[in-house]
Amino acid sequence: MASESSSSSSSSPASPASSSSFLTEPSPPHSPSLDATTSSNIDIPVLISGAGPTGLMAGLLLAKMGIRSRIIERDMAPTPDSRAVGTHARTIEILKLTDKAVYEEVGSQSWRSESMRFYFGNSLVADIKPKPSNDSEFHVPWMLAQTETVKILTDAYEKTGMGKVERGWELLDTKVVEQEQEQVEHQQAEDGTTQDVKTTTRTTSWVETTMRRAIEGTNKRKGESVVLGTVDMAGEDEDKDYEVKVVRSEYLIASDGGRSTVRHRLNIPFPGRTRDYNFILFDGHVETDLSTSHITFINGDNRHSVGMFPIRDNRVRMMLDDGTLTQEQFNAREPKTPTKEYFEKLLEETLGTLKLKVLSYNWLTYYRVNERRAAEFTHKRRIFLAGDSAHCHSPAGGQGMNTGLQDSYNLAWKIALVLNGTAPQSLLDSYNEERIPIADEIIKFSAKTLDNGVYQGWLSSNMKRMMLSIVPFLVRYLPNGRSRPPFSMLGLRYHENSVNKAHKSQHYPVTGPASIGQRAPDDILVPFTAPADTSVPRSEYLAELEEDLTDQPIPTRLYELLAFPGVFHILVFAADRLAKEKDFDCCLVKDVDHYQRIWSSRWPGLRGVLESNATSEAMMCKKMKSTPQFMVHVISSATPSSFESDPNETTTTALADREAGFGKVYIDCEGGRLHERYGFAGVSTKKAGGGIVVLRPDTHIGFRVSNVESAAWVEVDEYFGSILVN
Ligand SMILES: Cc1cc2nc3c(=O)[nH]c(=O)nc-3n(C[C@H](O)[C@H](O)[C@H](O)COP(=O)(O)OP(=O)(O)OC[C@H]3O[C@@H](n4cnc5c(N)ncnc54)[C@H](O)[C@@H]3O)c2cc1C
Repeated sequence: MASESSSSSSSSPASPASSSSFLTEPSPPHSPSLDATTSSNIDIPVLISGAGPTGLMAGLLLAKMGIRSRIIERDMAPTPDSRAVGTHARTIEILKLTDKAVYEEVGSQSWRSESMRFYFGNSLVADIKPKPSNDSEFHVPWMLAQTETVKILTDAYEKTGMGKVERGWELLDTKVVEQEQEQVEHQQAEDGTTQDVKTTTRTTSWVETTMRRAIEGTNKRKGESVVLGTVDMAGEDEDKDYEVKVVRSEYLIASDGGRSTVRHRLNIPFPGRTRDYNFILFDGHVETDLSTSHITFINGDNRHSVGMFPIRDNRVRMMLDDGTLTQEQFNAREPKTPTKEYFEKLLEETLGTLKLKVLSYNWLTYYRVNERRAAEFTHKRRIFLAGDSAHCHSPAGGQGMNTGLQDSYNLAWKIALVLNGTAPQSLLDSYNEERIPIADEIIKFSAKTLDNGVYQGWLSSNMKRMMLSIVPFLVRYLPNGRSRPPFSMLGLRYHENSVNKAHKSQHYPVTGPASIGQRAPDDILVPFTAPADTSVPRSEYLAELEEDLTDQPIPTRLYELLAFPGVFHILVFAADRLAKEKDFDCCLVKDVDHYQRIWSSRWPGLRGVLESNATSEAMMCKKMKSTPQFMVHVISSATPSSFESDPNETTTTALADREAGFGKVYIDCEGGRLHERYGFAGVSTKKAGGGIVVLRPDTHIGFRVSNVESAAWVEVDEYFGSILVN
């Protein structure tokens, strides 16, 4: 751990151009571990620049998987501006899967916005309530200012003891250092002597990052905008003393926001456009006749619109459409920030007869929309752009922070598995492959939402009014599971690639609900347990269990079983075969045990996993000392009463006594709703019914096979062999 070097520079700080003078010459790594990896001369496995939501989530996830990190943050304190105020269904799911305490804290501080209201002039045209669906536990956004989310994530990250947020440190420069390493091979000659054969073989690489800290005061440059702007590294503050450090890491996650220094230093293009729309953002307390517990959009008669987003205690965020301005007009505009009077006047004209009075505010600014996406999210498999540094778009639809958190959710397990020696470096390529199309989709969605929100002429305004007035009826009559609002992000999927592999026998349409790359659908399950009291007659016990299926509170959900960061989950959809086929139980037990044994010896898993996030009660499992890399869950669509009750057997199925994750059986609700969600509906007692689905650690479907016989297990084994280190 000798490579971290530190120095002080006085007065004139290191400009990026000269920052290389602070770099220590790389010393050769002592022992290369994995392909193209060095581990012994680094200071920290993962360095993260930027303690916004994206960087904190990455650090927290890595910590949960036993990987240490360091987060450097330029600002001395989190931004007080509300910024992201909506956390959507998919993000809530991943918070719960990552850290139960974070989920509970965000949940307890958040305001639930049960509906969205749309006004035209002073008439309420639509009140749209997203319909709850069994497919996800969450159906409405949770409203909480980003500042609070950042505080909760910071506390959770630091509580793991696996990393710290180092405030006041600014990343100045970074690069991937590559070094050819000579390897000496020993060969046995024919005469029995040993010869040294020199071969130049592997290239080792690591990341070298230069950072600095202003010894007094902040690193922020004068006149920097918190929302927009370009990186002006030349605009240094004079007369400041800085401490400069060079840190070596295996990986760098650049979550340093829209103006990302890393992106600039690596010359990664950030193409896109700046829209002509000009908005005023307001964050403060108001007094109003309008409900401050709903998201409200008002299309004013003055052809301006305003969106109002509840935060808490009558605090709201407003986004007021201030018309269009070219960049030149915007630059020439004076004053540079809106006055309270200007904002109130435009707001009053937009609201017409609707009443709203500003009591106080802590943020009032002009806002221009940028829609941009970095050309690459990965640099030499060592540096990863995540969050706003990789993509930015308008706040319409509230997707920005959510997408950043989901970038981290996609990336962290891949880094953890590679660092752990479980997966090859090539796994990291899938981050770029998977997140770029998602970023494009989000940018498109948010642009469309923005265009729909602002006045686009008389005809389109009336069309919008008409459409909105019928949406509440449409939502009411949508079948369960089909009412996911697009902003919930539950429908985002990854394409087939080296990690998401469609099986040759896959009959399902590529766009189906449970096709490869999709988020794993969720639903209610009931643990199938052996009776605690063995004197209870079997038939009585099964009847009681059957009652549990309809009893409240809900016994458990599939997602309760998946709350182990970094773990692959193998879902075995057994249809009704455990109840109907006498020999099926023992075949399945054999396969489950055989493959779990093989896999755990081949890929021992993430050592140092901190704890499960699952509710052990719901899982009915004992507390595990360490988490295996693979967990198997058997799901039966047979009702408990259809299991034959043999009074001589201690359990109805040998798998009922298992601990969660080791083949334990769960009963699918309503005779197979989860089977249906995963495309195994209607499969009955005929041999070869059911199927196996492999969920990646980020709960997306990686592989599926329509069969649960031994041959199917062989294919699952081949799948793991193809994506993990052999
Ligand atoms: C007005 C507004 C409203 C929004 N509303 C929503 C919403 O409702 N929902 C939603 O999901 N999103 C919303 N967003 C977007 C959301 O705020 C961003 O997408 C989110 O902050 C991105 O998180 P991040 O961690 O990637 O970047 P940031 O939050 O920008 O964090 C980057 C961090 O890196 C630090 N940093 C920068 N440079 C360096 C450096 N060189 N060295 C060290 N540290 C550095 C910064 O100080 C900062 O703390 C909104 C944004 C705005 C501006």
